[in-house]
Amino acid sequence: MNVYDSHRMADTLVPAGFSETASPEDADLVILNTCHIREKAADKVYSEIGRIREIKEAAARDGRRMLIAVAGCVAQAEGKEIIRRASTVDLVVGSQNYHRLPTMIARAQSGEKVVDTEFPVEDKFDVLAAPKRNAIAKRGISAFVTVQEGCDKFCTFCVVPYTRGAEVSRPVEKIVAEVERLTDAGVRELTLIGQNVNAYHGIGPDGIPSTLGKLLRCLAQVPGIMRLRYTTSHPRDMNDDLVAAHAELPALMPYVHLPVQSGSDRILAAMNRRHTRRGYLGVISRLRAGRSDLAFTSDFIVGFPGETEADFRDTLALIDEIGFASAYSFMYSARPGTPAAEMDDQVPQEEKSERLQRLQASITRHQRGFNAGFAGRTIDVLLEKPGRLPGQLVGRSPYLQAVQIMAPAKLIGSVQRVTITEVGSNSLFGTIANEMRAPAFAAAGA
Ligand code: SAM
Ligand code: SF4
Repeated sequence: MNVYDSHRMADTLVPAGFSETASPEDADLVILNTCHIREKAADKVYSEIGRIREIKEAAARDGRRMLIAVAGCVAQAEGKEIIRRASTVDLVVGSQNYHRLPTMIARAQSGEKVVDTEFPVEDKFDVLAAPKRNAIAKRGISAFVTVQEGCDKFCTFCVVPYTRGAEVSRPVEKIVAEVERLTDAGVRELTLIGQNVNAYHGIGPDGIPSTLGKLLRCLAQVPGIMRLRYTTSHPRDMNDDLVAAHAELPALMPYVHLPVQSGSDRILAAMNRRHTRRGYLGVISRLRAGRSDLAFTSDFIVGFPGETEADFRDTLALIDEIGFASAYSFMYSARPGTPAAEMDDQVPQEEKSERLQRLQASITRHQRGFNAGFAGRTIDVLLEKPGRLPGQLVGRSPYLQAVQIMAPAKLIGSVQRVTITEVGSNSLFGTIANEMRAPAFAAAGA
């Protein structure tokens, strides 16, 4: 979401006369778009400000004024404390206020320190400038679109409900208009994003709240769209309509990111996840029943307060039972203001670190097995950009694996049937298959 937000900030500054530079040394304004989800991410902000301060001071020695802005969730959470700790920062803009950047910058240019972290009444998406065609084309054939923001779930470890605010969905018509603009400029793959994306309930053209399934069906009809994905989902909101969309829509990729966090019911309850291990397994089997070629990825937290070795083993067992194709895993990080940060039985750092290593070893084993299964198979690859070698192109499989092939640049933006000849540690290698183009979805649901 921060990638998407950064693009929208850049688009919004174009009418104010700004253009993107390749390096901070050339910039009149540097915006740090920040993440508050774990302590490490938040801490990085201050070391980064220190680095940019040196560039700002060098610019000042050359007689040039440079502004530093801090945006995103650290800005939202810490507000004017950021300027108190780092006086070189000129403005702080919260995650819901970046449509106000042009006026904030004008005030900062006249020497004021500006902080805006109020949750606004207006919808930022109504005010943000749309990206120019050439900006979209430069960002490639794959794009993100925010369809939902914020979260009302209040998992006990998570800052999102406090930093991104209450759950809000964008209306279907506005999303379709944004997607048409993207496809018109060459985008072929869309990832719909939201902190709790499958809780999507934006107003449809008929005035009735839509669902994510309905939105996906609608976007699958936009000319030019070849692939659809969405992230991040909550197991509780994986409703029948979305499960059915997976079975129906060839454009909806068979790769689902479904965070589980833990395999222990005791820990899931303490996390206030509102799902059990059994409930999660049930969601996976409903999805698999609709489409047999689905693969899953997940998020895991190890060392949540009170997690015992037995709880952790339940998580390892769940990984073996489902066999994830990939996963993100994190040591629990206590976040200020969240209920879990106040819990008594915090797990020592060494234990967290040891469990993370074991969990990651298990995920890597499953990932290697998953990738090895592609040797000799012929799969659809959406070609994205030139590779590192002359004449090489890089694309993505339906499962987001990077696939390298030798092919002419004119094929960028097309889906090709590719036979995988070699499985590397980070990519698959293949050649374009000499076969009649089979319907991409022929095997699904079989
Ligand atoms: N909405 C998604 C869900 O329900 O799982 C998660 C979105 S959250 C922005 C991304 C991931 O960060 C979470 O799935 C979780 O694994 C991780 N995360 C969130 N808070 C954390 C914390 N305090 N410590 C460690 N990891 C955390
Ligand atoms: Fe955070 Fe996801 Fe839980 Fe919402 S559902 S509180 S975003 S982990």
